[in-house]
Amino acid sequence: MQKVPVAVLGAGAVGLTTAVAAQEAGFSVTVYTDKAYGSTTSAKAAASFKPVEVAYNELTHTMLIASWEGYSRLVADFPSDDHGVRMHTHWEASSIERAVPPYRDIVGSFRQVRSPDVPGGYRYGWRYRTFFIDMSVYLDWMVSRFVGQGGRLVYLDAPFLSLSQAAALSAPIVFNCTGAGAGALCRDERMKPIKGQVLITDPVASMNWSISADGFYVYPRRNDTVLGGTIQMDDDSDSVDDETERRLIEGNRWILPDLNASAIRGRYAGVRPYREGSIRLESEEIDETLFIHSYGHGGSGVTLSWGAAHMGLSLLR
Ligand SMILES: Cc1cc2nc3c(=O)[nH]c(=O)nc-3n(C[C@H](O)[C@H](O)[C@H](O)COP(=O)(O)OP(=O)(O)OC[C@H]3O[C@@H](n4cnc5c(N)ncnc54)[C@H](O)[C@@H]3O)c2cc1C
Repeated sequence: MQKVPVAVLGAGAVGLTTAVAAQEAGFSVTVYTDKAYGSTTSAKAAASFKPVEVAYNELTHTMLIASWEGYSRLVADFPSDDHGVRMHTHWEASSIERAVPPYRDIVGSFRQVRSPDVPGGYRYGWRYRTFFIDMSVYLDWMVSRFVGQGGRLVYLDAPFLSLSQAAALSAPIVFNCTGAGAGALCRDERMKPIKGQVLITDPVASMNWSISADGFYVYPRRNDTVLGGTIQMDDDSDSVDDETERRLIEGNRWILPDLNASAIRGRYAGVRPYREGSIRLESEEIDETLFIHSYGHGGSGVTLSWGAAHMGLSLLR
């Protein structure tokens, strides 16, 4: 039987995951993107499974549960770690006491901890087991999986300027996973970019856990370490600046006391696709094409990608 064609706009974490899930649901899938997948915001994510800088409501909570199941299935189905996804201990430390987060029952072995058992001398903390996704490895793996299953990845010369343009593709169903690009594409004024800058240092051999502490974070990866934690609201530029770099070094010194400017071997910034009020996950018919909008995941698009994919597909039923 002929498979129904589906178009996915966007080759970030949300688009690629939607594409793979749609293939597995029996569709013939083509992904369209104006940027190489290695240059998307998703490629800049650190990335731990944790909901931050996203409107947290019932939709997000349900998506988070579905996403945890998605990553759990992935590591069970592919036991070798060549996808870059692993489970490890994550700390959230703080100087002030905070309410227990709504995801405590979703992540693994959640536990509250107090000084002196919190790293970095912080007074309060939680520790739990969660997924850690090394994007430099994971996106390549997802693309190989998608293409290996017969998917097509099309690089556009220019971004789509309107949804009608995308409706002219020969697919009756289009998933709109354009991240921050959705602001212009859908004229969605609720999209508010949040810039984040990170620094890259050598791997920290002794660290097989990650930590976010009073907003700053240290995420060790296979070949390097990512230091981040800056939030610049309504800033859609991806330029780096020295003042933010100084703040990152100072903020992360609680965890890495020897950290100084000479340890920095890379720096970059990215724009988190935050949407005021809620992630957008809904269908809309335009020019006889069914669009499923799936964007606005803020600082949690990698975390929520499997849930977004499966819940997006469920809108077709
Ligand atoms: C520094 C930093 C650290 C982060 N850390 C984490 C983390 O630890 N955990 C986590 O879960 N998240 C993290 N995030 C957030 C995460 O990166 C985003 O939520 C996620 O990348 C969003 O994925 P996406 O697929 O929606 O968008 P993107 O990755 O931006 O992909 C959008 C795609 O759509 C395409 N596109 C856009 N507009 C158009 C158009 N008009 N026509 C055609 N194609 C178009 C783009 O080319 C791209 O392929 C971090 C972000 C930053 C900046």
